[in-house]
Amino acid sequence: MSFTLAIVGRPNVGKSTLFNRLVGKRLALVDDQPGVTRDLREGAARLADLRFTVIDTAGLEDVTDDSLQGRMRRLTERAVDMADICLFMIDARAGVTPTDLVFADILRKRAANVILAANKGEGAAADAGVIEAYSLGLGEPIRLSAEHGEGLNDLYTHLMPLADGFAERAAEDAPEIDVTLDEDEGDMEATTPQPTNAKPLQVAVVGRPNAGKSTLVNQILGEDRLLTGPEAGITRDAISLRIDWEGPDGVAVPMRIFDTAGMRKKAKVQEKLEKLSVSDGLRAVKFAEVVVVLLDAAIPFEQQDLRLADLAEREGRAVVVAVNKWDIEEDKQGKLKELRESFERLLPQLRGAPLVTVSAKTGRGMDRLQAAIMRAYDVWNRRVTTAHLNRWLAGMMEAHPPPAPQGKRIKLRYMTQAKTRPPGFVVMCSHPDKVPESYSRYLVNGLRVDFDMPGTPIRLYMRGQN
Ligand code: GDP
Ligand code: GDP
Repeated sequence: MSFTLAIVGRPNVGKSTLFNRLVGKRLALVDDQPGVTRDLREGAARLADLRFTVIDTAGLEDVTDDSLQGRMRRLTERAVDMADICLFMIDARAGVTPTDLVFADILRKRAANVILAANKGEGAAADAGVIEAYSLGLGEPIRLSAEHGEGLNDLYTHLMPLADGFAERAAEDAPEIDVTLDEDEGDMEATTPQPTNAKPLQVAVVGRPNAGKSTLVNQILGEDRLLTGPEAGITRDAISLRIDWEGPDGVAVPMRIFDTAGMRKKAKVQEKLEKLSVSDGLRAVKFAEVVVVLLDAAIPFEQQDLRLADLAEREGRAVVVAVNKWDIEEDKQGKLKELRESFERLLPQLRGAPLVTVSAKTGRGMDRLQAAIMRAYDVWNRRVTTAHLNRWLAGMMEAHPPPAPQGKRIKLRYMTQAKTRPPGFVVMCSHPDKVPESYSRYLVNGLRVDFDMPGTPIRLYMRGQN
């Protein structure tokens, strides 16, 4: 999965037909996670040797009333912001319609990479429409028949060079950017570096002793290598294992898993382990991009688990919470509800982070865990355009104006995303020190929901103007 492609366009042009063709049966198993939007369908796509994530704005079919335009616009904007590349689809038989023009406009303004496709392109009835598509000013249209599978070669040819670009970008070890206002940041950026073969995704599995960390890693490895390896039980530094984690679609995702003491040799003394798991977890967390907090379903959210999760958040890592030993859980539904409630209550700082149930022993849920890790990584790297942010900020202030301490209203003037990994935002305002914590929280929660950023810490910095 090297990049994300969003299929956008008005209803009925054939978006879902293409989505289904690209995804086949390999639908991403992320639907049951909190924070995942219901209106956007996401799937693991394959086109020849390309592997990528595809997003479909599927929720639109049901809308027939006046709100269509607004809804369509919002959903499309969202899909565009999530994607590295947009495939804009029109119906070649119908030609270019006024609604198509609305979409074209959104894409021209917002999307970094647009591929234009004139669908239903089989047969002469489509000739005129394909020609007309040039008038959209989005380049040469690909003549496609999603239904008959025609034109996919062309689609591949258009995607290839763009896909290469994302692979290269991900290969550079992206340094942490200082939180400074980047004046040049305009509307162009929509990049989400993804793990590629060049750079394994760095994952730490942390959790209390006996949560099942070693079993989990062994399950991924597919062999009993971990505890018997030459590294067992000696070094106190975090060590790592380079693995290729094969997903449900047979594609191996390169990862480096950072090991903790509990995963190496079992000390005889349990008490020692209890102490170790936090300090050792810290070491692993430092190296990681994504932290998997592994809980034991029988004793979830213990003090140590909370400390480790909080640690990961403070270190700015993407977080996935995995609940292990799900195989022995009897009341799965009731337990899940209880877990979600505890999660909300005990780890509000990780709101929306994915909660995945797994059995490290049987291997159930491993696909979902992998999908959650990939997605958390993706969100962690996400960039929101400045134009979009400021429109959003205006709306947030309108809905709920900042307070006015001593009769002086705090003015929030301007907002920009200063960094990724994790996403960090700077708000230029009149009295940065007077902005109450509750208002910052309001903005952070809003960012999380409106820009669909579950499972990642979000940093917000208030800055004065001078
Ligand atoms: P969406 O609403 O944009 O997701 O469009 P759908 O994928 O649901 O397709 C709308 C209709 O167009 C369906 O009846 C499809 O069977 C049909 N359709 C999709 N692709 C093609 C195509 O390439 N050729 C023709 N003739 N019909 C198509
Ligand atoms: P670690 O200390 O976190 O590395 O935990 P281990 O991987 O050593 O597992 C601790 C115990 O839990 C072992 O007895 C495992 O067999 C057991 N265990 C691990 N995962 C599962 C699971 O998914 N289901 C069940 N029933 N037991 C598990």
